[in-house]
Amino acid sequence: MGDSIGPRLYSCYKCRNHVALHDDIISKDFQSKSGRAYLFTHVRNVFEGPEADQELITGLYTVSDVHCTDCREVLGWKYDKAFEESQKYKEGKAVLEKFKIVKENW
Ligand SMILES: [Zn+2]
Repeated sequence: MGDSIGPRLYSCYKCRNHVALHDDIISKDFQSKSGRAYLFTHVRNVFEGPEADQELITGLYTVSDVHCTDCREVLGWKYDKAFEESQKYKEGKAVLEKFKIVKENW
C-alpha cells in the first residue's frame, strides 16, 4: 500500500480480503461464543450461508453465517430477522468476530 492514505479497513485474518470499514461499526460490545465481536451496518466481499433460527441471549433471530468470498472462512453472522421488537435494529446487519479480522491502513 505504500504511503497511500485510505479508509481504515478490516480484513479477513486468513487471506487479507477486505471485508469491512471501520466507519461502519455500530457497536464493539458484542459477544460471541469465542469472544468479542463487532456489529457493522454492512460488510463486503462476503457471502451468506443458509438461514437458521437461533435462540440467543437477547431473543430469537433468523441468522446466517457470513463467509469470506476468497477463503470461505466463517467470519461471523448476519441478522436476517429479529423477532423481538427491541432488537429490530440489528436486522440486515452483520457481526464479525474480533479475532477473525485484522486492521489495515491504521
Ligand atoms: Zn478470507
